[in-house]
Amino acid sequence: MQDKQQQLLIIYTGGTIGMLPSAEGYRPSAGIQQLINSCLGEKLLAQLQPFHCLEFEQLIDSSNAQPRDWLQIALRISENYQKYAGFIILHGTDTMAYTAAALGHMLGKNTKPIIVTGSQIPMSQPRSDALSNLIDAASFARSAQISQVCLYFGGKLFAADNVTKAHSSQLCAFDSPNGQPLARANIALDFYQPQPESSLKKDKTQSGFQLQPLAHNAVAVLMLYPGISDAIIAAALLDKATKAVVMLSFGAGNLADCNRYLMQSLKEARSRGTVIVNMTQCYGGAVAQGAYAVGSTLNKLGVISAKSRTLEDVVTDLYINLDKYL
Ligand code: ASP
Repeated sequence: MQDKQQQLLIIYTGGTIGMLPSAEGYRPSAGIQQLINSCLGEKLLAQLQPFHCLEFEQLIDSSNAQPRDWLQIALRISENYQKYAGFIILHGTDTMAYTAAALGHMLGKNTKPIIVTGSQIPMSQPRSDALSNLIDAASFARSAQISQVCLYFGGKLFAADNVTKAHSSQLCAFDSPNGQPLARANIALDFYQPQPESSLKKDKTQSGFQLQPLAHNAVAVLMLYPGISDAIIAAALLDKATKAVVMLSFGAGNLADCNRYLMQSLKEARSRGTVIVNMTQCYGGAVAQGAYAVGSTLNKLGVISAKSRTLEDVVTDLYINLDKYL
């Protein structure tokens, strides 16, 4: 049994890990503590202890997760921060990478392990990956080498700002498109070198936790594609309520500069002060804005390159730190 200093708080928000089958498919189900007790058995339970479970009243499929839910998780962590050595957030996989990224931005001054995890197969079902994810997440949540928000899944520990859901059916569902995981749960926990931080990364000098409502109505995502309509461009770029747009461009940050409506709308949005972040829609690699003539106007317009950041990281950063971009 671990000592009291190693006490963990497991926050259960819903997701496949605790779901039960229903006539309409898997649904969130209450009672995570009993489920853990019955599925783990005495020996594994002893490995996981000491821990407390905090279960959200409204358990959700994470496809329904909203910025207010991230805020609720962050609040629970901040209320219980002094009492626990580390935190495990049990969450659905669909939007897990957004939640992890958002928590990373909200809890900037955090120095304790906060590990977001879940499973592809419910804990109650045969061949479930829930127990190994939970037990490994607990090992990382007690590790002195972790002092940040991370996502653990399928043997790999990822930094919250560098992870995405990469597969809908494989048990190793997450990936770091640019760079390697922070650690792997092999026979031992094997840690790797920290990743270099992008120059756009959050301001580490921010004080305390940022737990105010998020500016999610002010942020839009515009996916470019051949034949995009003026209406879609206008909806993303010219809405007066929009203060920041993440533009998913081609390759190294290119766009159809022959599309006059698009170019004019970008110009208009920038002249109003709208922040535009240029992100590649490629799975891996970075934006090199201006490497091609078709993308070079973006430099003149003051469009910001997302470099190799993930969509989850940029969108949640804009929700939380919009003022810093304006
Ligand atoms: N739809 C589920 C959720 O995100 C999927 C999962 O947990 O794996 O809550």
